[in-house]
Amino acid sequence: MVETIVLKPGKEQSLLRYHPWIFSGAIGKLPAGIREGDPVRVTAADGRFLGLGHFQVGSIAVRIFSFTGCNPDAAFWREKIGKALAVREAAGLTSGTGTTVFRLVNGEGDGFPGLVVDFYAGVAVMQMHTAGMFRIRETLADALRDVLGGRLHAIYDKSEKTLPYKAPVTPADGYLGQPAAVPRIVAETGLLFSVDWETGQKTGFFIDQRENRRLVEQYSQGRRVLNLFSYTGGFSAYALRGGAERVDSVDSSARAADLAAGNILLNFPGEERHRQVVADAFDFLKESREPYDLIILDPPAFAKHQGALPNALKAYRRLNEKAFRQILPGGILFTFSCSQTVPRERFREAVFSAAALSGRNVRILHQLTQPADHPVSLYHPEGEYLKGLVLLVE
Ligand code: SAH
Repeated sequence: MVETIVLKPGKEQSLLRYHPWIFSGAIGKLPAGIREGDPVRVTAADGRFLGLGHFQVGSIAVRIFSFTGCNPDAAFWREKIGKALAVREAAGLTSGTGTTVFRLVNGEGDGFPGLVVDFYAGVAVMQMHTAGMFRIRETLADALRDVLGGRLHAIYDKSEKTLPYKAPVTPADGYLGQPAAVPRIVAETGLLFSVDWETGQKTGFFIDQRENRRLVEQYSQGRRVLNLFSYTGGFSAYALRGGAERVDSVDSSARAADLAAGNILLNFPGEERHRQVVADAFDFLKESREPYDLIILDPPAFAKHQGALPNALKAYRRLNEKAFRQILPGGILFTFSCSQTVPRERFREAVFSAAALSGRNVRILHQLTQPADHPVSLYHPEGEYLKGLVLLVE
């Protein structure tokens, strides 16, 4: 049975504009016996239907997955997965052999608040962020099997660390059903990467940087490249393919460094232009006297919640200032923020302050974001988390 949640008078405005989150303060009285993860019907105080969503304990109390009246059964979820796949097909991500990795479901951007599905050459890695999505994971897995058919070899659930820790569910990472095959190597625009969804960060690979890596490739000819926060070495592989004179990849994690070194070997056996360094990126920039004329800064999210914003902005400023001081005249800086809580303008201001402090003349060549398989609902601007600037530093 689907319970009904009635909003306080006047609290329906954001839902009428298709924003998918309902904050707990907007709700009058919760139905007795409601459990975290239950599907709920939401109405305005006057009884008007507003949407269907999953109930959650916390400041976001409901996440809407449908703004039209319907029955959220297996057919409903299958149709929704089908629509998500159609977007990736339209973007040309599913047909070629050059790219076998893409994001199939991107949370709110696909009308699936609380769910991410990444596709790795036949392995769908599901990551649930809400009890609601977790409780229907078998239905979602069946929908993936139906929609992807023979293209799907395995489904891996990686929600142990992403569900709210007080939620009344007991997630355990592992395969849903029997895997038919588990390829570990994926292709991205013809480059090969080994992906470890079991122990890697997020679902194993940062798919959202695909187009930005291509841009690095375009600018790399003859340049000395420094890739900071290199993780799987994605940017480094593109820089090498683009004709970089040399590429240094830096990550503080020895495991990440091994991954990147392995990926470079996979694509460029015996490559001597690449050097892998295990070091703190801030220290490396402070101590290095190497000349670089292309630097990539793609740090982890510095602000995971609103309260961390001031310190995050300081960290972006500090990091970018060091890069501005280091880079050769005429150099290109690719600088990113993947923190959802850092607005695009604030990030740009932090980079602006860094440039001013370094005294360099800087021009913006490109403003970057996430690609089409990470769509953003126009009504949910919070979904636009990836921000990047390509700067010419004189
Ligand atoms: N650029 C990568 C993704 C970066 S993820 C890509 O395209 O796939 C962030 C990486 O930063 C992680 O691998 C993490 O190990 C590393 N990291 C975190 N803090 C760091 C620090 N202070 N110095 C260097 N690396 C760091």
